[in-house]
Amino acid sequence: MTTSNNRRSGGISVETAHIFPIIKKWLYSEKDIFLRELVSNAADAVTKYKRLVSLGEIEDTDENGYRITVKVDKVAGTLTVSDNGIGMTEDEVTRYLGNIALSGALDFINKYEGEKDSSNSTGIIGHFGLGFYSAFMVADTVEVVTKSYTGTPAVRWVCNADGSYEFFDGDREERGTDIILHITEDELAYLGAYKLREMLDKYCSFMPTEIYFEDVTEEDEPAENTDEAADEPAAPAPINDVSPLWQKAPSECTDEDYKDFYRKVFHDFREPLFHIHINADYPLNFKGILYFPRLGNEYESIEGQVKLYYNQVFVADNIKEVIPDYLLMLKGVLDCPELPLNVSRSYLQNNTYVSKVSAHIVKKVCDKLNSLCDTDRETYEGVWDSIRTFVEYACMRDRKFYDRIKDSLLFKLTDGKYVTVDEYFKPADEIQETAEKAERIMYYTSDPEGQAQYISLFEAEGIRVAVLDKLIDSQFVQMYENYVGKDENAVKFLRIDADVAAALTKDGEAAESQALTDLYRKVSGNETLEVKYAALKDETVPAMLTVSEQSRRMEEMMRMYSMQSGMDGMPATPVAYTMTVNTASPLTERMIPLCDTDPAKAELLATQVYRLCLLSQRRLTAEELKTFLADSFDLLGQI
Ligand code: ADP
Repeated sequence: MTTSNNRRSGGISVETAHIFPIIKKWLYSEKDIFLRELVSNAADAVTKYKRLVSLGEIEDTDENGYRITVKVDKVAGTLTVSDNGIGMTEDEVTRYLGNIALSGALDFINKYEGEKDSSNSTGIIGHFGLGFYSAFMVADTVEVVTKSYTGTPAVRWVCNADGSYEFFDGDREERGTDIILHITEDELAYLGAYKLREMLDKYCSFMPTEIYFEDVTEEDEPAENTDEAADEPAAPAPINDVSPLWQKAPSECTDEDYKDFYRKVFHDFREPLFHIHINADYPLNFKGILYFPRLGNEYESIEGQVKLYYNQVFVADNIKEVIPDYLLMLKGVLDCPELPLNVSRSYLQNNTYVSKVSAHIVKKVCDKLNSLCDTDRETYEGVWDSIRTFVEYACMRDRKFYDRIKDSLLFKLTDGKYVTVDEYFKPADEIQETAEKAERIMYYTSDPEGQAQYISLFEAEGIRVAVLDKLIDSQFVQMYENYVGKDENAVKFLRIDADVAAALTKDGEAAESQALTDLYRKVSGNETLEVKYAALKDETVPAMLTVSEQSRRMEEMMRMYSMQSGMDGMPATPVAYTMTVNTASPLTERMIPLCDTDPAKAELLATQVYRLCLLSQRRLTAEELKTFLADSFDLLGQI
């Protein structure tokens, strides 16, 4: 360093020359973070000063309180971040900004320079540890005017983008620091008040020191000559909330506080369903509030937003290394002061602390669901329809999640009641006693309207039917069966049209008729159609068509697969129907002898019955429906 009069000059380091192009290349998409870095440095400086006061090392002389000011001056082309924190001596400026800060930058470069895909800046978490130097993404010269709390004279340090710097005597009276960015020609957008306010709102809304925004140009405009202008101007308000709700003890927060916070942070005016306030102590030491958002309807995309903070400084949205991706459907804030955030995603993925935080969040979410189910069942049932898809999805994604909440999984029944699996199999009024005793079968409908005829058969026998009508359900039941395994707790899901439940049939043998079997095979055009005989308690139905659960699931899977792989033209997998002929039906009783005495009439009846069965399964093709209607009208004409 050379010294002449009051001017001292120097150079940061030879590496600087190639650091800036790399910083620019890498951080292009996240340039905005420079403001967060500078404001959080300012907040740190204030915190350090407060610390010294609280330790009794200095007397608190600050009457105006602690503050950070972000000031934009379009005319001068500068953006200034000022604080009344600890300040720096000349020696500290040289040490902290002249060398050490670069070590963070060098680390960063070593880590990422070698990576091939430099366009993939999303691979980097929001906090880069570049700190002060990120200012050079938008500025060609950065001035630092600072006065240390120790009382040494103020200094002005001027650093250029090529790494050369000069010291001058500073003209600052009060303790603290001004960081003055001379914005480059290419980045003049950063002199826009609207943009700056937006950036402050995103990154600094909850920083722990009050932040004020000033637009010098605006202030210089001539005051309007109105009565209002003559009034005392209102004291400017800070742009941030220095003690956000998540930092408070849950016992200090009211329901209204949680709702207000939600509205303010997520701009969502629908009330959340419920919230979870996490306050994890040592060793995890993180806080946060998660909300279950209220969704408009089934088809609304479930896209949450979980904001990650580092000591009240916003870092990034939706970091799935910290919170499992299936919980990203929630909305909320997490503050993890222990997180090593200045690292890449791949580092976070293998970090045990991060996985403990993630596991703790999962546990808290499960605890909340369980406690609602156990202690406030009414509320829980009230929100179940809204959270069901989320809970089922979470179970499918994470076996541990399922294990924790399995007793709080509800099933909605066709009568509108909600039951857990155990409640389904242990009904208070012993209506579920039949074959289910031996085998735990849960009957369900995937389409309460389309399967209404089947539902009424079950309801007439007092068998409860669960409504599993969401897209996710067919995969969910498959998973559920696998999870519970094959032991005595095994549960089998059967769609109500999958089989003729034992409970629907009368005791005793049903007489079979080979002639009728042959006839049904003939009219169905399926020589191998499985035809069974049973005496149903409901005598009005001459026959029922069922599709085995396994075969139907396979068909659904194939359909989904061909949809996903874009192979729509693939021939549909044939489904294996079973026709159950109801021997208790008077129509069947009439049809059996007709096979011999009037085969033409028997065939006409069998055709209509078969088509009606297909219709109740919604399995008629457009062409088949047309013929069916034409034939039916024809029949009516003959009466
Ligand atoms: P980091 O904040 O990650 O340590 P920076 O490059 O942002 O790295 O800053 C380097 C150091 O410079 C800080 O650790 C701090 O000691 C000092 N510093 C930066 N800004 C200020 C400020 N506004 N007031 C006082 N010291 C500061």
